[in-house]
Amino acid sequence: MCPPYFSSNTYFSNAIKITTFLAQSYTTMIRATFLSILVLFGVNLLAQNTPYPTRFELSGGTETPTYAEGIAYYQKLDADFKTIKLFTKGPTDSGKPLHLALFSKTRNFDLKKLRAEGKAIFFINNAIHPGEPDGVDASMMLLRDLALHPERYPALDSVVVAIIPFYNIGGALNRSSTSRVDQNGPKEHGFRGNARNYDLNRDFIKADTRNARSFAAIFQELDPDFFIDTHVSNGADYQHVMTFCYTQEDKLGGVLGEFHQKTVLPSLYAHMQAKGFPSTPYVNAWGQTPDKGWTQFPDWPRYSTGYAALFHTIGIMSETHMLKPYEQRVKATYALLEGSLKLLGEKRAQWLALRRQTKAAVATQTDFPITWKVNREKFSETEFLGYEAEYPLSKVSGLKRLQYNHDKPFRKIVPFYDHYEAENVVKKPRFYVIPQAWFNVIDLLKTNQIQMQTIKRDSSIEVTQYKIDNLQTSRNVYEGHFFHNNLEVKAEKQIMAFAAGDVLVPVDQWRNRYIVETLEPKAQDSFFRWNFFDAILQEKGGFSSYHFEEMAAKLLEKSPELRQKLEEKKRSDEKFAQSGDAQLNFIYENSIFAEKEYRRYPIYRVE
Ligand SMILES: [Zn+2]
Repeated sequence: MCPPYFSSNTYFSNAIKITTFLAQSYTTMIRATFLSILVLFGVNLLAQNTPYPTRFELSGGTETPTYAEGIAYYQKLDADFKTIKLFTKGPTDSGKPLHLALFSKTRNFDLKKLRAEGKAIFFINNAIHPGEPDGVDASMMLLRDLALHPERYPALDSVVVAIIPFYNIGGALNRSSTSRVDQNGPKEHGFRGNARNYDLNRDFIKADTRNARSFAAIFQELDPDFFIDTHVSNGADYQHVMTFCYTQEDKLGGVLGEFHQKTVLPSLYAHMQAKGFPSTPYVNAWGQTPDKGWTQFPDWPRYSTGYAALFHTIGIMSETHMLKPYEQRVKATYALLEGSLKLLGEKRAQWLALRRQTKAAVATQTDFPITWKVNREKFSETEFLGYEAEYPLSKVSGLKRLQYNHDKPFRKIVPFYDHYEAENVVKKPRFYVIPQAWFNVIDLLKTNQIQMQTIKRDSSIEVTQYKIDNLQTSRNVYEGHFFHNNLEVKAEKQIMAFAAGDVLVPVDQWRNRYIVETLEPKAQDSFFRWNFFDAILQEKGGFSSYHFEEMAAKLLEKSPELRQKLEEKKRSDEKFAQSGDAQLNFIYENSIFAEKEYRRYPIYRVE
């Protein structure tokens, strides 16, 4: 139950009111004594009349809780308020499970029922990068304030709030004050890598971590209408405390993309301006100063908002600026979360209707963009509050260095390149067929609630198969992978045998984008490009040259066609003409002995 604490403003309220209410009851007297002790020990006065003060408030906005303190705080709210429930969800690499807190004004926590009642779901994810804990603190205070004063938040009549207190638990447990060298607080914080050193904000598709798999299960269960993933930015210096990194309008597409661009973002920018935090799009200006504008961050499906977009969820990564004091950053994050809740409540009916409309359209849509490129000819404009860049001599190298001069702030309208165009578009098949051997793929589709049918008996099916003609593999390891680029594939039709237990994935679902963008090998973040099928890129057999020589000669004798192909290749490729082994290999690859598995993508299209 709500305890009988007085509080007129639970968020950074001033300390004067406390003197008037201290005498009100025995309970508050005990509290006053407790607070006096805190004051004696130098604890910040700002937190004094806040029931359920957080470590952030008690420290005067300079500290963030440990993982254990944070979870204990949520457990306390769960115990004291019937409107809050803290759930234990799936595992993470750290060995500890994820938690999900729900705020539901009606005290009903059955998500299916809540959605059937027309409630909207607002989902906040924190500490994906635990060195950036602004959202951890903002969410704790917001949830408390919702519980204490639901009457101040009319949106709660129609919105359910879902919060992951700490997503990267392993990173949160790996606490220090040194892993964010450029950041202005808090005093101690977690680390970016998870328990196995993965960056979870690259892991939403490949899902190497248990964190990502458990997150996917939560995300699909919630099917959130609005998603905010809280961060702190690196990069250039400027005046803004808050920037938004968000789903591209073109990529979100259709009526929902337009709604996001024309309604959601302008409302949130206006809200932040009113709260004293004029915001701008995430300053994606790496290796250059931002005064001439920048390109919108490409939120590929590997990232949280890119993943959300596959399921028609509007997503924002809140990016506070690393050099702003921690207290300001947490306040700005709080303001964004509060404003987002308010907006979702106000626009709920339209928001839900547009998502329903989009889901229905995507289930029957035939053409799916799978890669995007920025349109350099088209741009929007954004107001940018920057600092002038100067280039004094470095005390370290004696060479010119970049410095932002805080005595020379400027306000400027700059171009913002936020138009992306589809680069590769595929027609969806009726089904994909996935042999049961690729259980890792099937498991991920299941986690993401993709509907599948199991083939009942051994069958022959006419399918289209891709042959991987060409690809470039990154020479550098990236997030535990050697990512594939510049893929060229050739589609071939054939009748193939499938076994009982193999899986058909019908492409008539509202989650079609996830299906197509993971299973089409050329897609930006396909399973193929993330190395799920690398075993097919290596021949398993091969031949012994001295023995295959005789056989190759016979093959050429029997097939004038093959001989002609060989001669043509010799004429066009001098190196080839000089290599006996290369020519033998050519004959092998063009014979019945060639491995049918080699470079053949093992997921098939039924057109
Ligand atoms: Zn981050």
